[in-house]
Amino acid sequence: MKKVALFPGSFDPFTKGHADIVMRGLKLFDEVIIGIGTNSAKKRYFPLEMMTEKIRETFKDNENVKIISYDDLTANAAVANGANFLLRGLRNTTDFEYENTISQVNRHLVGGLETVFLITSPELAPISSTIVRELHKYGAKVDDFLPYDLD
Ligand code: ADP
Repeated sequence: MKKVALFPGSFDPFTKGHADIVMRGLKLFDEVIIGIGTNSAKKRYFPLEMMTEKIRETFKDNENVKIISYDDLTANAAVANGANFLLRGLRNTTDFEYENTISQVNRHLVGGLETVFLITSPELAPISSTIVRELHKYGAKVDDFLPYDLD
């Protein structure tokens, strides 16, 4: 069976922490699909089209990385895109509390849909999309946190 993982997230923006999870995920899965969840009620800071393009550019040499966007339950998006695993990163206990519940719900929704968690690489643990957005908003340089050039 081909092992395909959906790596879901808001990716607003996609950071070096996310890229690390994708690259490590590629050692476990035949294919990693980066799924940008687009909640129509939630306004993004970095536009979806721009972020999709930046992620595409980041993984242009990795043919086993695909990029999709979806406005649906993550479990449904996994089924719709042929993914039999979910991939998520864990930085700390706050991540764990949230992920613990959501992974159980996803498995309840789609039987057999297992979530695989990768513990963050220590040097990337402090990177979060929220902090990058905050820095960017006030004009601070954020290049160190992103695997692509912003402009
Ligand atoms: P969401 O809005 O669904 O939490 P994010 O885009 O913030 O989505 O994150 C997507 C996934 O990437 C989550 O599993 C999150 O824990 C993980 N992640 C985010 N930053 C890092 C990091 N620095 N190292 C490892 N995993 C991370």
